Amino acid sequence: MKEKEIIEIYSTLRKKLKNKIPLAEQTNIKTKKPFFILIGTILSARTKDTTTKKVCDRLFKKIKNFKDLENIKQKDLEKLIYETGFYKTKAKHLKKLPKIIKEKYNNKIPQTLEELKTLPGVGRKTANLVLAVAFNIPAICVDTHVFRITNRIGIVEEKNVLNTEKKLTEKIPKKLWIETNKWFVILGQNICFARKPRCDVCPVEKYCEKVNVK
Ligand code: SF4
Repeated sequence: MKEKEIIEIYSTLRKKLKNKIPLAEQTNIKTKKPFFILIGTILSARTKDTTTKKVCDRLFKKIKNFKDLENIKQKDLEKLIYETGFYKTKAKHLKKLPKIIKEKYNNKIPQTLEELKTLPGVGRKTANLVLAVAFNIPAICVDTHVFRITNRIGIVEEKNVLNTEKKLTEKIPKKLWIETNKWFVILGQNICFARKPRCDVCPVEKYCEKVNVK
């Protein structure tokens, strides 16, 4: 797919989906603080967006910074986040964060992919999302929606997430990286479903190659 078409896809998505916000981002948008974005993204792993949102709304009433995280008992933290997948492991990861952020990163959340990946519970996907959403640094977070839809549309033809990310950074102009996750997540949550995509109401149908769509 040519760059011109990719740019047109983004401008169409911007126009048609501007009133929708990914569920997992609703809390983040209210706060816009890197701390909440980091914690919310760690909690969202293997968890439905509706559950992540509910848990974050509850958690962030009590935990507002690394000090609060340091002070809360692990058992109490587990109770607050128990609806998320692998909540015990996540609680363990979250409890380790304050010390690492203090000792290794001088009380600041790091702003590079490699440094973010050293934090417990933070993989490549989370790190890229934190860079883009919390720090406005160009990065493409390839989650299940971005992977599925960019391959369906035909922007890339890749079999795994890592290669998809690499190819997307080659094909998508850098100025569009930050908004990439947002638009494809909204499209995936509302129209381009994994099982039954609703191509009849899709705003970007005219660009889509519908790869492997029956
Ligand atoms: S046309 Fe269909 S397959 Fe293509 S992006 Fe839209 S919903 Fe998904």
